[in-house]
Amino acid sequence: MKVTFWGTRGSTPSPGADFLRYGGHTSSVALAHDSGPPTLVIDAGTGIRKVSEQLAGTAFRGAILLSHLHWDHVHGLPFFSAGMAPGHRVRVLLPSPDADPLETLTRGFSPPHFPIAPSQLGPGWSFERLEEGTTGLEGFRILARELPHRGGQTFGFRITDGTASLAYLTDHCPTDFGPGPGGYGALHEAALELATGVDLLVHDAQFVAAEFPGVANLGHASAEYAAALAEAAHVRALLLYHHSPSRTDEEIDAIVTGLASSPVPVAAAREGMTVEL
Ligand SMILES: [Zn+2]
Ligand SMILES: [Zn+2]
Repeated sequence: MKVTFWGTRGSTPSPGADFLRYGGHTSSVALAHDSGPPTLVIDAGTGIRKVSEQLAGTAFRGAILLSHLHWDHVHGLPFFSAGMAPGHRVRVLLPSPDADPLETLTRGFSPPHFPIAPSQLGPGWSFERLEEGTTGLEGFRILARELPHRGGQTFGFRITDGTASLAYLTDHCPTDFGPGPGGYGALHEAALELATGVDLLVHDAQFVAAEFPGVANLGHASAEYAAALAEAAHVRALLLYHHSPSRTDEEIDAIVTGLASSPVPVAAAREGMTVEL
């Protein structure tokens, strides 16, 4: 599978000269089968606009998985032009406290918050409630598990194409389940089930351990926790993700350098980066 990062930032976009290398767009990752077009997008932050560029004028036909509904994971939806091109088919799966997921999404995405509602995105859009468990989408096998975060149900994913595997755990607050062995947060069962043995773990690294406990109520993990989970779950590689909007390129480089002695290779997800698994 081919995994392309189009938004790696958490919370809010961060344009500017200090953020050029890792990028300023919020969370969005596109998955494709080898040389095919992207057919599965995880999260629809502002980075999803770049998926339209990747499709080079052709319509998106596939699924969008929303880990949760915070702004930095949905704000790109109405700007996803490939999802509105003739011939589009966009199946959106989202956590929903309401029986009708469209009703949930519409509450934060309709006048007066935004000029249009999701029902106006196009005739090929459909909305389904995301539940814990395993499902098949666009030739990928997806396991969804709930993660501790803040302000609404949040899912992490384990995705396989039969050959390679990816775990996507963003907006994850493992300290909610206790300090864990290193004090960075619990290596809890859901996180381990999602991550164990994967080829690539993409994990929330909004903070570093030194910023805790002051940031513990914000619902995120530290880069040190991501490395500890990567080691405990025996993953092949770790990409730090959901960078703080104030973290400069140099500061992200320093976080990666600080984890260089980790037994699992660590890098930071960068906008425009493609990883072939
Ligand atoms: Zn987020
Ligand atoms: Zn969030």
